[in-house]
Amino acid sequence: MDIVHIASELAPIAKVGGLGDVIYGLSKALHKKGQAVTIMLPYYDCTDFSAIENLAAIGEPLKVKENGDSIPTKIWKGQFEDLNLILIDPAHPKGYFKRGVIYGEIDDNDRFLFFCKACITYLNDHKPDVIHLHDWPTAGAALLTNDMARVVFTIHNLQHQGRCAPHNLHKLDIEVDEEELSDHEYGEALNLMRGAIARSDVITTVSPTYRDEILTDDCGCGLEDDLLDHKKKLKGILNGIDTQYWDPATDPHLSQRYNQESVHKGKAFNKQQVLQELGLKQSNQPLVCSITRLVSQKGPDLILYGIEKTLELGGQFALLGSTPDEDLFEQLAEYENHPNVACSLTFNEPLSHKLYAASDMLLMPSIFEPCGISQLIAMRYGTIPLVRKTGGLKDTVKDEETGFTFDIPDNKGVANVLQRAFDAYPTDEWSNLISRAMEQDYSWDTSAQKYIDLYED
Ligand code: ADP
Repeated sequence: MDIVHIASELAPIAKVGGLGDVIYGLSKALHKKGQAVTIMLPYYDCTDFSAIENLAAIGEPLKVKENGDSIPTKIWKGQFEDLNLILIDPAHPKGYFKRGVIYGEIDDNDRFLFFCKACITYLNDHKPDVIHLHDWPTAGAALLTNDMARVVFTIHNLQHQGRCAPHNLHKLDIEVDEEELSDHEYGEALNLMRGAIARSDVITTVSPTYRDEILTDDCGCGLEDDLLDHKKKLKGILNGIDTQYWDPATDPHLSQRYNQESVHKGKAFNKQQVLQELGLKQSNQPLVCSITRLVSQKGPDLILYGIEKTLELGGQFALLGSTPDEDLFEQLAEYENHPNVACSLTFNEPLSHKLYAASDMLLMPSIFEPCGISQLIAMRYGTIPLVRKTGGLKDTVKDEETGFTFDIPDNKGVANVLQRAFDAYPTDEWSNLISRAMEQDYSWDTSAQKYIDLYED
C-alpha cells in the first residue's frame, strides 16, 4: 500500500513531543512490513537537515492560492534513514515555516491550513491509497481529500482542536459547511478537529483507555457528542516506541551502554556522569527525573511537589522541562545551584537519553495522558515509572509490577507513590521491577499491524 502521513513533527529531526516519536516509529515499522511510506512535513527552518539525504527540490513549485495570490511552494524530496520525506516550502511573504519554532505562533491556523492545502494539492496528482493525518495541525486536510484516498485521522491529544475563524478557510478557498464545523464552545469559531472527526474514514486514539475516556463529558473536551456519533469508526491503538532508536545497548548518547544483564552497573556509571554534568552532588541515593513539556496537562505543580518530596525522602531530582510558564520558572529558580536538584528548562534530546539511562525513577503525574511515550522509554532503560493512572499510562504501567501508579492527581498521590518507590528501592524487589520493566515489548510491531488492518478495511 502507498501510505502518506501528513504530519507536523518527525523525531528526532523536527520534534516537540511524543507526536514526533510516533510518526518516526510507526513509519519505520510500516516500512519494515513492506508498506510504501511517505511523510509530508513543513520545511521548517529549525529542522535538523544534517540527517536528511539526497534533499532536492523537485519539479516546478506548486502554486497555492491564498487570498487570491499565488504562493510558489517548493516541494523538496529527501530520505531520512529508510523513510521518504516530502517537505513543503512556501515562498510566503510571512515566512510561515521560517520562525525558528514548530508551533506557538499567532498565525498557527494560517500556517498549518496552508500546509494542508499544499499537501493535498500535491497529492491530487499522486493519489496514495491511504492518507494518515495527525492531530489538529493536519485536520484541515480532511476537508480537502474528496475521496482521493482512505483517510485515517489520529487524535494524539484532543485538547488542541484547531479553532479558527471562517476567514482562515475562506482565504485558501476551502469550502466548508460552517454548521458541520462550528465550535460548540466558542460561537463564531470553526473547529478543524470536529471537521476531521466527521470527514475521516477512521479515527484512532493512541491508547485504548484514552479512546474510552474521550467519549465522556470529563475528557471529551467538548467533542464527546461528535465522537459518540462516530463511535463505530473510533479505535484505540496503543503507541509503541522505536526500539532501535531507544535502546540502552546501542544508544550513542550514553557514557556507558548497557542491557538487562548489565543494567545496574550501566545505570550507576551513567548516573555518576549525569550528576557531574548537571553539577549535582555525587550520591547513591535514588535519582528521580521528569522529562516533559511543562504544560498544565503534565501536572507541573505536582512535579514541583515531587521535587520537594524527593528531597524529603533523601533523593535527588533532575527536571528536563520545556516551555515552563513564568510562574513555574520563578518557582524553580529557588533550586538554582542546589546540590540535589537540577532543572534544565529547555528541549534537549541528548540530555533526555542520558537522563533515561541515569535515573532510577521517572515521575509522570499527568492530569490526562493520551498515551505517553516517556514512560515507555523509561521502562526500556530500566527506569521505574511513577505515573498517574490515566489514559495510556493506565494501559502501560502496572502497579508494583513495572512501576508505581496513583489515582488522584494531588500532592497526597505524589507523596504516596514516591514513598512506595523509595521503600522498594533498597530491597531485592527493585531488581525484579527493573527486569520486568525492561522485558516489556513496547515495539511498534503489533500496533503497526493494527494500523495496516485499518488501512485495508
Ligand atoms: P507529549 O507528546 O504530550 O509531550 P509524551 O510522553 O507522549 O508526551 O512524549 C514526550 C516525548 O518528548 C518523549 O520522547 C520525551 O523524551 C520527549 N521530551 C519531552 N520533553 C522533553 C525535553 N524537555 N527535552 C527533550 N525531550 C523531551
